[in-house]
Amino acid sequence: MSENNDYSLFDEVNHFVDKATKHLDLDKALVQQIKECNSIYEFNFPLRNDDGSKEVIKGFRVQHSHHKVPVKGGIRYSEEVNVEEIKGLAALMTYKCALVEIPYGGGKGGVKINPRNYTETQLEKITRRYTSELIKKNFIGPAIDVPAPDYGTGAREMGWITDTYMAFHPDSITAKGCVTGKPLSLHGIPGRTEATGRGVFFGLREAVSVEEDMEKLGLKTGLKDKKIIIQGMGNVGYHTAMYLEQAGAKIIGIAEYNGGLYDEDGIDVQEIHRYKIENDGFKGYKKGKFIEESTDLLTYECDILVPAALENQITSDNAKDVKAKIIAEAANGPVSWEAEEILTENNVMVIPDLYLNAGGVTVSYFEWLKNLSRVSFGKLQKRYEKQKFSDLVDIMEESSGYKFSEKQRETIIKGASERDLVDSGLEETMVNAYHNMNELRKKKNIKNLRIAGFVLALERISISYMDLGIFP
Ligand code: NAD
Repeated sequence: MSENNDYSLFDEVNHFVDKATKHLDLDKALVQQIKECNSIYEFNFPLRNDDGSKEVIKGFRVQHSHHKVPVKGGIRYSEEVNVEEIKGLAALMTYKCALVEIPYGGGKGGVKINPRNYTETQLEKITRRYTSELIKKNFIGPAIDVPAPDYGTGAREMGWITDTYMAFHPDSITAKGCVTGKPLSLHGIPGRTEATGRGVFFGLREAVSVEEDMEKLGLKTGLKDKKIIIQGMGNVGYHTAMYLEQAGAKIIGIAEYNGGLYDEDGIDVQEIHRYKIENDGFKGYKKGKFIEESTDLLTYECDILVPAALENQITSDNAKDVKAKIIAEAANGPVSWEAEEILTENNVMVIPDLYLNAGGVTVSYFEWLKNLSRVSFGKLQKRYEKQKFSDLVDIMEESSGYKFSEKQRETIIKGASERDLVDSGLEETMVNAYHNMNELRKKKNIKNLRIAGFVLALERISISYMDLGIFP
């Protein structure tokens, strides 16, 4: 438990691990080794402002598990950041990577600032100094620890991290693999920005495709016409909303930190996204109803509730009032374990974070592989494939006498672009992991998807640790 007697995110994650180990026969010391964070680095550094004033900034980086290296996990900029939160998020990364079979240990970093209170120049200074502190202690590198964006950070910050790391490692040919989520010009990968939201979409699409599970919830299969409420319209929330809308679902509510919007007829995602950026929120938007206390939206009537902002949003205080049939954890840790007990009791399906938001790390993995090999996916084979398919179409036309239209021919012969390959790899990962987790739940009669996800992850991590042995 943390100091204020609330459960910290790290406590929460370990609570789920304890529940999952009941379904496994693991050595006690091994479980302890898995649960603990292997390395924790907390540090402070000064920032000099343009007016000459100075302040001290607190940073963190936690490496939860080295059963696979490098470790991987985002960097978060938030005033709420604290070591227990970062430990919890790092641990979650370990189980997430194991569940979706991405070969990384878990890590996470944070800087205790509200980025809205700093200029771009200050944020660049903070990011570069934070990176140099990680370099000093060997807490970053393509083979050691590879950060990515998280709450409050994005491609811009990843670009600054890359440049700082390269300045300290001018002779490293793989230096760009020190971080993912980079701008495309710095060997980022197409599709990374939207990857987490796209992964949430694939996960939800799979969940609602299982007839037997939907019947138990009193829902029809498919995303079409499903009523959705989303909390957080940042990177993950916005892209999730966009893909769900494209699949025919109706976004009826969006909650932001400074107010929410509700519209039974459906909210136009692109339009509201533009409006939010231009007006710093939803106030004054012509359609729908402005909701002053946006957390109220968490308990509005809907089919699917998507918390995509921060942790600890659905707790024992509001869980009993939740009317959604499915909670899709796009954010990390939005549902507390006490809340989940209530929700499970009330027949609410929770699709857990450790699975659902794994799209980000999955595409980060593809970006990292690209940085190590220094070649884009598809570059070598795209034209070759195109020629082969073109030859095949010619043979089919000759032997059948049928003439394909230009459009048909183009569709058949077009080779896969880097973006096509990224999307296909992401979809494959999310589809397989969902069904593996759900099948295990049914086979072992586990009460919810989260515990099934932890069981699967723990099985894999424990095998890695046992195969590694103990040094010395
Ligand atoms: P972001 O900073 O882009 O967006 C977060 C959004 O939530 C912002 O629009 C912010 O204003 C809003 N918000 C903040 N407090 C709120 C509140 N109290 N109520 C409603 N809205 C609020 O961050 P993000 O990258 O979208 O991350 C969101 C969540 O998803 C985090 O939990 C993060 O750990 C998780 N996640 C992100 C990624 C990724 O690739 N970015 C990957 C996996 C998990």
